[in-house]
Amino acid sequence: MRKTVCWRKVCLILPVDWRVKEEIKNHIVTTRKKTRQIMVGNVPVGGDAPIAVQSMTTTKTDDVAATVAQILQLEQAGCEIIRVAVPDMAAAEAVRAIKKSIHIPLIVDIHFDHRLALASAAAGADGLRINPGNIGSKKNVSAVVDCARDLGLPIRIGVNAGSLEKRILKKHEGVTAAAMVESALGHVKLLTDLDFQNIKISLKASDVPRTIEAYELLSSTVDYPLHVGVTEAGGLYAGIVKSALGIGSLLMAGIGDTIRVSLTRDPVEEIRVGYEILKSLGIRIHGPEIISCPTCGRCDINLFNIAERVEKALLNTSAPIKVAIMGCVVNGPGEAREADVGIAGGDGKGILFKKGKIVKSFAQDKLVDVLLEAVASFEQAYERKLKKDVK
Ligand code: SF4
Repeated sequence: MRKTVCWRKVCLILPVDWRVKEEIKNHIVTTRKKTRQIMVGNVPVGGDAPIAVQSMTTTKTDDVAATVAQILQLEQAGCEIIRVAVPDMAAAEAVRAIKKSIHIPLIVDIHFDHRLALASAAAGADGLRINPGNIGSKKNVSAVVDCARDLGLPIRIGVNAGSLEKRILKKHEGVTAAAMVESALGHVKLLTDLDFQNIKISLKASDVPRTIEAYELLSSTVDYPLHVGVTEAGGLYAGIVKSALGIGSLLMAGIGDTIRVSLTRDPVEEIRVGYEILKSLGIRIHGPEIISCPTCGRCDINLFNIAERVEKALLNTSAPIKVAIMGCVVNGPGEAREADVGIAGGDGKGILFKKGKIVKSFAQDKLVDVLLEAVASFEQAYERKLKKDVK
């Protein structure tokens, strides 16, 4: 376990844009488990690299226009690695056209048919998610490994609690964390027997305790980078809670090199939740952090509506600004004194405050406008500073 890592050195050698560079520069992680580093396209995963946020498309992969449109939306939200399902040759061939229009590494998700892996790799995929134990003969495994080695592609072994081998289920008397780890290690061995180490592993169950136990056990056994998530986590509320607890607990324990929040929703929500988890733990900085009070009997403005409007308006803001939206002018500035900018309102008046100090008062109906103006000028100053730093 290492104690503290400064990302400044890492950012000097990575092909990252200046926004990410600033993010990495500010990024301090404590007690993260040391893993090997692999490259998924131009994104490093594991070792000292920032914990990458990824998602999976929900479109039919062979519908190139729809898939590209969704990936571009995900990029805008901050997605760093995207995975697409490749159930047939049409999807594998679509990878070539998709790659031409996107800017982040693309991983192909393949089950059982090694020819789809070979075709997708030839079409330009940046990584393969395939379980070598499920693709037939040693000859098939060997063909995929040779192809991945030649093209420098990592292979993610993805074990799901729902699809463990019968032999392992019998031995462990059910789907236990140890059974999941044994399954993953079996797949790993097929690759390492062929001297292939460019590996990433995930172990997903749909319940939090088993997911955590399985990753903890795996992390104490191997040093391959780990892709962390809770699978089939559910709709918005259940999914967010399970992901925050599962992914969050593992990250707090120093486990996890890339995360995927799994929601039965637009995948853009997965990216937003992923960053909220990382931001809450102080692991990565990504866009604004909104602080808003729950309101109480002192509040006489419609704070729920104001908070919703501000949240929507700031969805694509990149500056790491702390924004407060508070329900009363008496306690609001003090309760949110850590905020870079904040508003509070009541009695027909609105106030703008910075770091707890009131800087302006105005008519209450201008609350949202004034706050958004203050955020915009913070963002402009932030971008000017970054450009200057990068020069
Ligand atoms: S800021 Fe004011 S309205 Fe909001 S919870 Fe505190 S006292 Fe209540």
